[in-house]
Amino acid sequence: MYWASKARELSSLIKQSMAKTGIVKDIRYLDHIAHYPHVESPKRLRGIYAVLEKGDLAGKFMEITPRMANHWELEWIHTPAYINHITSTKGKPLTILDPDTYASPLSYDTAKLAVGGVFSILDYLFRRDISNGFALVRPPGHHAEANRAMGFCIFNNIALGAKYAMQVHGAKKALIVDWDLHHGNGTQNAFYKDPHVLYFSTHQFPYYPGSGNYDEVGEGEGKGYTVNVPLRAGQDDKVYIQIFRRILSPIALSFKPDIILVSAGFDVYFDDPLGGMRVTPKGLAAITRILLGLAGDLCDGKILFVLEGGYNIKGLRECMMAVLKEMFSESILKEDDLSQGEEESINPHIEKVIKFQKQFWPL
Ligand SMILES: [Zn+2]
Repeated sequence: MYWASKARELSSLIKQSMAKTGIVKDIRYLDHIAHYPHVESPKRLRGIYAVLEKGDLAGKFMEITPRMANHWELEWIHTPAYINHITSTKGKPLTILDPDTYASPLSYDTAKLAVGGVFSILDYLFRRDISNGFALVRPPGHHAEANRAMGFCIFNNIALGAKYAMQVHGAKKALIVDWDLHHGNGTQNAFYKDPHVLYFSTHQFPYYPGSGNYDEVGEGEGKGYTVNVPLRAGQDDKVYIQIFRRILSPIALSFKPDIILVSAGFDVYFDDPLGGMRVTPKGLAAITRILLGLAGDLCDGKILFVLEGGYNIKGLRECMMAVLKEMFSESILKEDDLSQGEEESINPHIEKVIKFQKQFWPL
């Protein structure tokens, strides 16, 4: 297992050396709650966009102009009544959608552009005009339910992306990997009975939004296709690398997706104001390397990262830099960084999930 995963990661690095990475970025993403104090503020993307324009990263990627999603596309996940409710916020000074989710005059358009940005980059990815991609959008999406906004999210960008990959580009199976600090309740619920979309999440637990215990595994035909790894606060790079190697990798190799979609939340960063994890940019680079290796082996390298949370601006910039460098094949990692956790006994959280998941997967 160890050498197989090493070989996969090394070959991914060589393949990625010819990689062309696509990025969705657009100043219109700054229009959502631009003039209202909120932790999910336009400053987040402004910080990331600044990193892309200078130094090491300048000119290394293909910039993709996003389109807006249409209502009939939003209906793949959301109810018409909910879409109409969000539409009705257009032009209004401020609408409270949920205790921590607001809409400003341009939020409806920005939220449609976030979903459409995921669609646009998927077009490039399936045409193989890019090797991999990162949609740098807001508002985030993984808490958004079929009929309600939640946790700073309006439309579920990544769930709609999985639907788009299947409906428009003929993907039969999609793997969604959600490493955001929080559990992606909206994404889980969107595919809870669906065996074609495997939802895998690591998250702080018990914590907002309350869902994501290890025994939430899907229902009916979808049983086994939801995999939750709930974690107490304080977990570090080693634990995340162990989870991605020992749980995610064998499950992904058995599931054989046609595309991998990643809910990339940088609120797992050790100094994030909302979270209690101890993950560093190197840890995120290491799990990105594992994911790129899996995508290379399983689905011709097709992998799309979509921004979710992350509320420490310095952390966001450092984490983005680490992940993008991995995608461009200019890794910040050394051999020792990748070997972390290999010699150690399995963390008890991981052991519990492995024992439970053995009924569904060859772990
Ligand atoms: Zn989050």
